[in-house]
Amino acid sequence: MCGIVAYIGSRDSVPILLEGLARLEYRGYDSAGVAVLGRGGDLRVRKARGRVGELTHDVPARFKGSPGIGHTRWATHGEPSDANAHPHTCGPIAIVHNGIIENANELRGKLAAGGAEFLSETDSELFAHLIAAGPADDLEEAVRAALKQVVGTYGLAVLDGRSPDRIVVARNGSPVLLGIGDKEMFAASDVAAIVRYTRQVVHLDDGEIATVMADGFRTSTLDARRTTKQAAVIDADAASYDADGHVHFMHKEIHEQPQVIERVLRGRLDDRFATAHLGGLNLDPREARAIRRVKILGCGSAYYSGLLGAQLIEELARVPADAEPASEFRYRSPVIEDGTLYVAVSQSGETYDTLAAVQEVRRKGGRVIGVVNTVGSTIARECDGGMYLHAGPEVSVTSTKTFTATATVFALLALHLARIRDLSPADGQRISAGLRRLPGQIAEILSREEEIAALAKDMARYPGMFFIGRVRGWSVAREGAQKLKEVSYLHAEAYPASELKHGPLALVGPDLPTVAIVPGDELLEKNLGTLGEIRARQGRVVVVGPAAPAGGLADDLVEVPRNEPELDPILLSVPLQLLAYHAAVALGNDVDKPRNLAKSVTVE
Ligand code: GLU
Repeated sequence: MCGIVAYIGSRDSVPILLEGLARLEYRGYDSAGVAVLGRGGDLRVRKARGRVGELTHDVPARFKGSPGIGHTRWATHGEPSDANAHPHTCGPIAIVHNGIIENANELRGKLAAGGAEFLSETDSELFAHLIAAGPADDLEEAVRAALKQVVGTYGLAVLDGRSPDRIVVARNGSPVLLGIGDKEMFAASDVAAIVRYTRQVVHLDDGEIATVMADGFRTSTLDARRTTKQAAVIDADAASYDADGHVHFMHKEIHEQPQVIERVLRGRLDDRFATAHLGGLNLDPREARAIRRVKILGCGSAYYSGLLGAQLIEELARVPADAEPASEFRYRSPVIEDGTLYVAVSQSGETYDTLAAVQEVRRKGGRVIGVVNTVGSTIARECDGGMYLHAGPEVSVTSTKTFTATATVFALLALHLARIRDLSPADGQRISAGLRRLPGQIAEILSREEEIAALAKDMARYPGMFFIGRVRGWSVAREGAQKLKEVSYLHAEAYPASELKHGPLALVGPDLPTVAIVPGDELLEKNLGTLGEIRARQGRVVVVGPAAPAGGLADDLVEVPRNEPELDPILLSVPLQLLAYHAAVALGNDVDKPRNLAKSVTVE
């Protein structure tokens, strides 16, 4: 599920591949490698466990060639090691692979019985052997024959010393796109790898193979039917992938939020009817009225943003709404009800579990819309409609700006559905005005960064913390705990504040601080009661909320301006990002690439 980059053209491919791999680093990986063809078609390979920077350092100046393929690996079969790093070779064939071959054992047995010798423990190496066994004069056919024997997911790029004028790539369940240059072509698993060279891209669909030459490409299906593709122009430029003077992408992306939220809202608020316009939704008012329930599906922070979204939709539109992890939903044989609108949330639009959930809903005849950041991504294309975040590329593995952008999109969807039902124009106006205040208020929170950083540094000495919140604060607490875990590696657990005395209170004491989300809404008294219970057990209380209400019950206060009560959760989540970020920095962690995590989880 990690990264692929490939190049064919008259330039030396090595610097292009290494640069592309470095741009994919944000996705997380354990080893990296490149293979290129020298002048006489000789195959040259360099690969190693560790960072792209180390590989770059070790590649000698005379190591040159084109075409070439490169890879960053996220081990699934075999430990991270030099031998298991990609590319894998067999004779003149070299391959890089993202994904998992499910029938690897069976294929390995078969190939071994025929005398094949394996140099790695990976499933991916099988591709090299299977392709080498195919017709010598037709690489595409050899790849096709190999793919037909494989059960599993792949993004694949193949190089053949006997056919130096082409590379072949294929996709099934793991993204691959082509980049069109001037008498040169690129292929990659993520636009980040090639955006410096071209912005014209072609997304392959699952089950497609492409033969790519310097001056063009052709695509076909597994059973050799030609397909036609439209090139799209991507709206990101190389600068979006630079940290722009920030020490970390996470920091840059937290600070981008005021502009991001402005972008999310742009052109979508309708003052005349006090509603929101969502062009890509593909729901006419009659269909929108017929919605009886909303079910939001996502994984990780996308799921938590869905919890926040469900609360907004139920509260404003008075339609029952809930969120569920897509990774669970897809396996529990869910009942797909008429009248339910399913909403799939994914930053990358490639999250495998969410995609599988979308396919399950559609297969059963349900209607599903996407809330996705990456334009043209698989989930965006598989849904019946949807809303793009327009948050720009998010490079840090942990999501920040896409969380608030998703929450804001849900507020727009809630407003839209609410105004088709029974929300009054006056309330519609109130929510619209509140949405417009968000960017300025987020900037205000960000201006208190120093204060929050000092608090985070102090909090980082505890072994862990509780995050609590009630109703509107509950999804905020869950996302806050998730953020802290991801980047600081401190233990963090979220509880509904109302549940505290039903169990978790047993853990509260001087060593376990609590971050309490206290919005200052109609549940304030209840929240204050809970804070009192924690304080009575010598637990430190950090209150995140408006200044006045928590009064003497807070050991520390992270002040958050008030918006409309329905929209407050969006603001309340911002300081928790800074808290997690600065705790991670204080602990010396690799903030943008937390251990064990990858940016877009394109495997199960
Ligand atoms: N399954 C392959 C391996 O373990 C590919 C992993 C990846 O997608 O990076 O090497």
